[in-house]
Amino acid sequence: MFDTELLDGSEGSVRRAAALIQSGEVVGMPTETVYGLAANAFDPAAVAKIFAAKERPADNPLIVHISDLTMISDIAAELPQIAVTCAKKFWPGPLTMVLPKTPNVPYITSGGLDTVGVRMPSHPLALALISAAGTPLAAPSANLSGSPSPTCAAHVMKDMSGRIPAVIDGGECDAGVESTVICFEDGAIKILRPGRITAQMLAEVNPDVRIDKGVLHAVDNGERVASPGMKYKHYAPKAKVTIIDGSREQFAAYVSRNAYNGTFCIVFDEADLGGAEVPHIVIGGTSEEQAHGLFAALREADERGAEEVLTRCPKTDGVGLAVYNRLIRAAAFRVVKL
Ligand code: AMP
Ligand code: MG
Repeated sequence: MFDTELLDGSEGSVRRAAALIQSGEVVGMPTETVYGLAANAFDPAAVAKIFAAKERPADNPLIVHISDLTMISDIAAELPQIAVTCAKKFWPGPLTMVLPKTPNVPYITSGGLDTVGVRMPSHPLALALISAAGTPLAAPSANLSGSPSPTCAAHVMKDMSGRIPAVIDGGECDAGVESTVICFEDGAIKILRPGRITAQMLAEVNPDVRIDKGVLHAVDNGERVASPGMKYKHYAPKAKVTIIDGSREQFAAYVSRNAYNGTFCIVFDEADLGGAEVPHIVIGGTSEEQAHGLFAALREADERGAEEVLTRCPKTDGVGLAVYNRLIRAAAFRVVKL
């Protein structure tokens, strides 16, 4: 049991966090996507502590974070030209590339796979921590497995207090959804998990962009999946979430017919409720705003003791695909089509 320290973003804090990582510990780290739980990616005992702190299934691989392109040769056994192009265009930033791993990367880090996800984050504190630690950092989202990802230090403290020695407070995450995960297959770019880097942006590198079927559909038990994280219950608050797919007027009418004491609504605009007096949160009308606010909204539903969450249905183009992908899992694929 740790007395978890909340560190500020000073140089001294980064040095302290780096020293913890070098001694084989796990630290909560801000990134531009969501907060991560970081440990030395090459140290199996340290990585095992990440899995324990999160209660994460062992076959769900971790993403390895670098601060400099030269670090990649220790991690990826091959670097196709298209990966170099993507790195130049999107790094540092919210793109993870799945590549064949070197023997340096222990199987505990890659979830038993011969491939590894690599990313260079753009958050200055993440970059500073990786360089100060002097090693690539394995870092999944810093939430308990299954719950909404943390987008501020308070969320990390809520889930990880007592489980890890320290969290660096870097303020609110910009993107609010995890990185876009891609792999390269038959000359195409395949999106395994959508994020802030959209299909349209990737198409500028290679027009052949495919979207893995796990992005929008439930993965059947026992089915082999390209992105192992997709098969788990994910992002879910304690409340039962239902997506209401219809116009603003249809949503408002549905809420006034069905809301009870335990209902909490996630809406894009105050007007979505049509004046109904139901506890709610407004996350904004653009896909970027929705990505930024979604996980905090799901956490707020729990804080307010909601039993049921009714939410409007996001658009699915651009960054909206990431919002929809997270929300549909939070809702266990429950959608009411009006
Ligand atoms: P998280 O670290 O919680 O953001 O989750 C990382 C996710 O990235 C995993 O759940 C996978 O879906 C995906 N991922 C990471 N590494 C690989 C890999 N080697 N192959 C396929 N997907 C990966
Ligand atoms: Mg996660």
